[in-house]
Amino acid sequence: MRELIKECKHCGIEFNANSRYKKKAGGYINECPDCTISLGTESSVRYRGVTTGDGKMACTQILKFDSEADAQAYVQTWNNNSGFNNRRSGGLNDIKFTKVGENAGNSNHKGKST
Ligand SMILES: [Zn+2]
Repeated sequence: MRELIKECKHCGIEFNANSRYKKKAGGYINECPDCTISLGTESSVRYRGVTTGDGKMACTQILKFDSEADAQAYVQTWNNNSGFNNRRSGGLNDIKFTKVGENAGNSNHKGKST
């Protein structure tokens, strides 16, 4: 099959999305097999990625929860809070989680210095 080179959204490396290794690992098209396995994005339900829209680059946070219920509650609360006016408040601190990784965007858009 033809090679399909994608850049991993987690670690930034380029990988072949049509490789057997990637097909076996599963996960999303923009996740390399290694990240799919190490983050458990294909098989585990305890990880969630949330994205903010500040700046030119999205900020992606990968969070690990103690339980599926906590993961669901967090994502629901996050979606409620980030949907309108991009507010990031209310309820998120009530849920216990571990931040696994964060790729923070640059909020200082348009090149202005602060
Ligand atoms: Zn990766």
